[in-house]
Amino acid sequence: MAESFTALGIVRSGSANPTGRTGASRAIVVVVLAALAGVGLLLATFQSQPPRPPTPKIVMIGIDGGDWRIIKPLIGKGKLPNLARLANEGTSGTLTSYQPTMSPQIWNTIVTGKHFLKHGVDWFAVRLDDLGQKAELETKTPLMPITSAARKVPALWDILSQAGDTVGVIGFWATWPATKVNGFMVSDRFSYSRYNKLGGADQYLEHQTYPAELVEEIREFVVSPDSITEADRARFMSGQVEADDWRVNHDIVGEFDITYAQSETYRRTGLHLLAERQPDFLAVYFQGADVTSHYFWEFMRPEQSGHDIPEEQVQQFSKVIENFYVYQDEVIGDFLEQIDDDTIVFVVSDHGFRDLPFTERGQPHISGWHRLDGIVSIWGKGIRSGITLSDVDVYDITPTILALSCLPVAQDMQGRVIEEAFIDGQVCPTTYIESYTELPAVPNVDDLQTPMDDAMLERLRSIGYIGE
Ligand SMILES: [Zn+2]
Repeated sequence: MAESFTALGIVRSGSANPTGRTGASRAIVVVVLAALAGVGLLLATFQSQPPRPPTPKIVMIGIDGGDWRIIKPLIGKGKLPNLARLANEGTSGTLTSYQPTMSPQIWNTIVTGKHFLKHGVDWFAVRLDDLGQKAELETKTPLMPITSAARKVPALWDILSQAGDTVGVIGFWATWPATKVNGFMVSDRFSYSRYNKLGGADQYLEHQTYPAELVEEIREFVVSPDSITEADRARFMSGQVEADDWRVNHDIVGEFDITYAQSETYRRTGLHLLAERQPDFLAVYFQGADVTSHYFWEFMRPEQSGHDIPEEQVQQFSKVIENFYVYQDEVIGDFLEQIDDDTIVFVVSDHGFRDLPFTERGQPHISGWHRLDGIVSIWGKGIRSGITLSDVDVYDITPTILALSCLPVAQDMQGRVIEEAFIDGQVCPTTYIESYTELPAVPNVDDLQTPMDDAMLERLRSIGYIGE
């Protein structure tokens, strides 16, 4: 109980006292109401806070699998001017992940500040039984890609929305069906809505976005994998790519097309919505560094692959990963061009990458695998220059963004505020509450199964993320 009083100190300090009770007994009332209503604590907290001072806008760019061991040599060659600028003018360092480094789990840790056993997004796929929605079923229901119904705690965008900030979310894991925010959400299924490459659903658009009608505004920005041409690929890989050249009976060039199309979809959508809506908080996700690192790693490091790779394939594919980082840097530059001076930019990854020698592979075409060391760069108003961060991990991003937004950090978040990145006096002092509990309603979609599930699961199997 003592801990609760400490946590609720912030509630007491800023609030009027309509009941005339002492601060301590009012805190008990708040605790009881919170326990009864589930949402009381959050509302009481926000309503009782003094008005927040203006805070900078925040743009968070997620680079799945981003790794300094790729980035730093390319910065040295002058090939990543935007990531170089963020690192030199801002604060950056290694963002430590945790095992298992599976993207849905870690990204949801990044946006909740909690371990996956607490936030609930525990895998790439889920069975309805496990969601607790069909407890009466005796047999296991079919496997389906993870959905937003799995998240058991509010995400950063929920907390910011409830505090009155406008938010935009594009492409993050476990955001379909799109949930209500104070702004817009483009779900992680949006780029699959034209998922032709593996024979998936062509135009399954239900709940792709919040608000629902947003999908009509942005569907012109969807790039289909089938539209990617030899000319598009030329900046990433060399030579004429024929189906027979693709290794180990796996269409790694087709995988490239899918991830490049998805990146272009989110780039075009993100830039449009940033320009049109200018949300207080924008989070946009890119998967291509991860996908290219899984499929093309051994061509970049053939000596470490543990087997012989035909020289012409090395020639053809050795630069795919580097060239994708160069492209990704341009995308980051596009976003930097559209923000105003009053903005803080986060670039974060959920893990880095390492060699996966041939003898250790589950699937022969997967030659790069995750390692714990990811990346973080923080840049912009109120952020120190040229500082190298140490001892920061994936739990720290949500507390840090809350602090920069002048909102309390929850004590049930595992991470800390990266205060060493802040210029003294330019960021609100960090305050705490016990917990954020208010969850968005998840649209009730028929059994949460969709026509695109099979194609999505097939792709997750191909990359070695799920078995069977
Ligand atoms: Zn990942």
